[in-house]
Amino acid sequence: MSIKLPRPFRSIFKFFLYALLLLTVAVTGTVWISGDSSYQGRLQEPVVNDITQLNPVRVDRVVTPKSIDDIVAAIRTSTGPISIGGGHFSMGGQTAKEGSLHLDMRQYDKVVAFSPEKREITVESGITWHKIQQHIDPYNLSVKIMQTYSNFSVGGSLSVNVHGRYIGHGPLISSVKSIRVVLADGSQAEASPKKNPELFYAAIGGYGGIGVITEVTLMLDKNEKVERKTSTMKIAQYRDYFARNIRDNRQVVFHNADIYPPAFENVRDVSWYVTDKPLTIEERLIPTDRTYFWLPKLTAFASSSSFGKWFREHMLEPMYYSFDRVVWRNWEASYDVRELGEGDRSKKTYVLQEYFIPVANFDRFVPKMRAVFQAHDVDVLNVSVRHALPDPGSYLAWAREEVFAFVVYYRQGTSEQDKLKVGQWTREMTDAILSEGGTYYLPYQPHATIEQFRRAYPNADKFFAVKRKVDPQNRFQNKLWEKYYPSPDQKISDYLTQQKNYQRGEEQSFLSLPEWYLVFNPNEYVAFLDSGKNPSDFPFFKSIDEYWTLYDRVKILTNGVYPKNSEYQTMLWVIGVSTTVEYLLKGVYENTLGRLSRWTASRETPEEALIRDAHRAYARLIYDEPWYKFPFWSWAKRAWTDAPFFGQNFIRKIERKVFFTLEFGFKALYAKLIGFGAQTAYEPSDGLVTMHVRADAKTLGAIDERIKVLKDFGNRDLVITVPRWGEFTEIVPKVAARGVEFVEISGNDDILISATMAVEADAKPAPLKFLFASTVIAPEHQKRMVYVVKVAKLAKALRLMPESKLRLEHIYDY
Ligand SMILES: Cc1cc2nc3c(=O)[nH]c(=O)nc-3n(C[C@H](O)[C@H](O)[C@H](O)COP(=O)(O)OP(=O)(O)OC[C@H]3O[C@@H](n4cnc5c(N)ncnc54)[C@H](O)[C@@H]3O)c2cc1C
Repeated sequence: MSIKLPRPFRSIFKFFLYALLLLTVAVTGTVWISGDSSYQGRLQEPVVNDITQLNPVRVDRVVTPKSIDDIVAAIRTSTGPISIGGGHFSMGGQTAKEGSLHLDMRQYDKVVAFSPEKREITVESGITWHKIQQHIDPYNLSVKIMQTYSNFSVGGSLSVNVHGRYIGHGPLISSVKSIRVVLADGSQAEASPKKNPELFYAAIGGYGGIGVITEVTLMLDKNEKVERKTSTMKIAQYRDYFARNIRDNRQVVFHNADIYPPAFENVRDVSWYVTDKPLTIEERLIPTDRTYFWLPKLTAFASSSSFGKWFREHMLEPMYYSFDRVVWRNWEASYDVRELGEGDRSKKTYVLQEYFIPVANFDRFVPKMRAVFQAHDVDVLNVSVRHALPDPGSYLAWAREEVFAFVVYYRQGTSEQDKLKVGQWTREMTDAILSEGGTYYLPYQPHATIEQFRRAYPNADKFFAVKRKVDPQNRFQNKLWEKYYPSPDQKISDYLTQQKNYQRGEEQSFLSLPEWYLVFNPNEYVAFLDSGKNPSDFPFFKSIDEYWTLYDRVKILTNGVYPKNSEYQTMLWVIGVSTTVEYLLKGVYENTLGRLSRWTASRETPEEALIRDAHRAYARLIYDEPWYKFPFWSWAKRAWTDAPFFGQNFIRKIERKVFFTLEFGFKALYAKLIGFGAQTAYEPSDGLVTMHVRADAKTLGAIDERIKVLKDFGNRDLVITVPRWGEFTEIVPKVAARGVEFVEISGNDDILISATMAVEADAKPAPLKFLFASTVIAPEHQKRMVYVVKVAKLAKALRLMPESKLRLEHIYDY
């Protein structure tokens, strides 16, 4: 049954429908042609990330040492934090720390000494396993212990104290004869189990927290031909099978057992036995320039659905393993990480985790692991079981006794919500492994709580004691140690993290620029009207373009540098589209009917003065409060009560009354709607910015009563709060002028500021890093300069601004 509207309603309905269609086309077209999507600007500080793309960290600068002197010089000529990166395959920010000097060790990669007779090699720590393999393979020697893939650096592998698929071995440390380390003061030390054992057992497995491992002497093994043998079984049979057939079998070189998801009931043993059968692959090593096409696709397919997983277990692998394979041990140890795929990881990414269980507790852990995966519907691609003998003594040992490792390869989304979800099940899994006397691996995302870390690594205090001794100023830092190392400022950071709404995303300082443009622009509108100009001449279309230009620029600047903040970007998109609609309608109206009515008037009407006042009041309010709190409707009414109905320039009077009532009436409705639904989303905090400053508490209180000292830690270390938004920009320069220094603001060390200055002038004063200029409509001959500055240098920058003829416009408080 269809409802038929009477004819006049049908025409009205049609009119609105067409008008809506036209508006949609106009808005889409305007948004399409506006903005600056070709913007080339980059935040100057380099970003260090890892294979998951989940952990972008902005470091201060990157140094690529090629010699020991380069390393020593980098340390001695700098004062701040230092982070160290090898292959950058760890997955939780272990290689980086914001604002640090980053040592990228990949070009420090020579073979220093090699003795085939002694089966020993000394290498620089940035060398990859693959490069070592190329060197030793002609002598029929192999690396004794390494991971499955050969792209990792030796230094990164030592600092994690890795394991492989080897039988009869344990963590990498058991194949290390000695190491050399450059310490925080630039001095060098040699360490082995006999010489400086403290340093040896702390630096290996020390995640770059002790010093830079520079040279390493490794023991090598024979390169032999190995033959693959495989069988499947129920997981309940595996431990016994392993004990009887694999553990003490000296013919087995590599072994792993893959547990098939999602049931986690069946296991495939894949073992490689020494053989003298003819090779099925003649290559001695897998070439580094090989291209990978099918494997990443099959991995993606297997992770795409339950069918994919079933297909892998029951079709793909039975077929794949039905072929005989005899290869060199070096070939089997020279896999390339690229085979896992190098595609787009912006929405979904592949990540590893690892749990270690004492061999006796294997069967008790499996059901607990299965329960966590199934309860959280974790998209597990594979769980690979390996075996390791006990660690000889590293302080952060993950194998304090003989263990099985469960290497979990899974897929996760990259949104904040996805990360929280992963954090939740990871902590549950960590509880499960701890409850069975096991531990978890540290090169992955640091989701475990500090308490879980302490339980998993009971000798962490010994490690921290060495760190305090050799690195008293805590120069060697990264995201892992930021979380778990109790630094001297720990009590301040602990206090700060307990504060409600303390931590805000640093990217929000950048992303809030277009949002603030919608504060500046109404003020420019008022300045424009105040200068006696015709409202019809206001460049509405240019303002739309400026909004989208700022939107594009901050998006490009933050992309890949910070974790994606989809929520904020969506909010910017929504307000951008509504502003485009508003300015389009206003622009079209003011340039037609508005211009016509103005033409009929000999002078300004009282309505126009009132409209100016209304916009002035609105422009003032939005500095400190959300826009929807403005009393639009009471102002709309005043057009009829405060200005007489009849009078000179009647046409203009009526036109302005109606136009203003429609504009503010509509905004009143919209504000009610937004205010209703978005109160919490718009401003979830208590409206305060929490920061750590260096100042005298008494002086600070006297500067402005809106500053509240939350805690005085002595030594001029204060935690304070200041109101957000407009008040923040008002108070912070006052504080800076009185010599106060900022240590961090809302957990961040970079902040965006904008200032205005004459169009013909230019200013790039030192602590400020210039990003771009933006158009100011009124007052005339002004432009907006956008800068980023280190929080630690903010006070100095603010003090220097007047010298450069810059007028501070805003400090973007995240
Ligand atoms: C696909 C994949 C497979 C993996 N398989 C295994 C596996 O089979 N077995 C296993 O045990 N692990 C495995 N891992 C984990 C991997 O071994 C570690 O992440 C390892 O650290 C990677 O080496 P890297 O050179 O990339 O180290 P990076 O990630 O660069 O560094 C790791 C840590 O070492 C520190 N570091 C690096 N170089 C030095 C140096 N010269 N001096 C002092 N500190 C330094 C860094 O600061 C950082 O804390 C795997 C990881 C991936 C991505």
